[in-house]
Amino acid sequence: MTLLKLTEVDTFYGGIQALKGITIDVEEGEIVTLIGSNGAGKSTTLKSISGQAPVKAGSIVYKGTHITKFPPHQTAARLGIAHVPEGRKIFPKMTVKENLTIGAFSLSNKKVIEENMTRVLTYFPRLKERLTQKGGTMSGGEQQMLAIGRALMMNPTMLMLDEPSMGLAPIIVEQIFEIIMELNKNGMTILLVEQNAYQALQIAHRGYVIQTGEIILQGKGSELIHNEKIKEAYLA
Ligand code: ATP
Repeated sequence: MTLLKLTEVDTFYGGIQALKGITIDVEEGEIVTLIGSNGAGKSTTLKSISGQAPVKAGSIVYKGTHITKFPPHQTAARLGIAHVPEGRKIFPKMTVKENLTIGAFSLSNKKVIEENMTRVLTYFPRLKERLTQKGGTMSGGEQQMLAIGRALMMNPTMLMLDEPSMGLAPIIVEQIFEIIMELNKNGMTILLVEQNAYQALQIAHRGYVIQTGEIILQGKGSELIHNEKIKEAYLA
């Protein structure tokens, strides 16, 4: 079943057109990756979906609902679309536990919040050991885990990750990608934005290549990884 469909989406920042007719779809249970270089429009695509960037034309449909003009709190709380932003954006002065609790802002049932917390801490035992530590004192990798954990606190139906590998050592990137795969195996649909094209294509069922606001190539992850054009431009 198609979970998310973007059709001919145009997004502008003032007079600058960041997305030029983006058409992508995500099936339930897939890992789909969006790769491309700096400034190509990857973050803007995620922001257009979660309601943080103004879509001027085209449509975004999620589970049959037109969400093109939905504000962020509606895409998150009503539809279960979780967006882990680029640069993590955790709250540095709050503890790990407080950061996680904030992720459950849309939930009121304490029992459900506790269940979600238990599940998140099973995925991230490192966070469990550091519940009382301030978020800002954690390593980059731990902060990324915290950002993902926070997004999972509302038990989303789709997780959107914006460059989770950014600034992390290769071994930590591997750990993060393993967790992404595990989440997916347990049923989570994932839309993954990455500059680290090789690693993203290795775990993705399908991928799209975006360049100056347009999709220039798409295919199975296993095919794109061997594509000569991609090898030249993104896998050097
Ligand atoms: P990066 O990895 O550098 O974030 P990206 O592929 O995610 O790259 P976007 O951040 O989506 O790219 O940016 C797409 C285009 O929109 C770029 O030309 C960028 O300069 C521009 N842009 C992004 N955010 C804004 C903004 N808030 N105001 C004006 N222009 C913006």
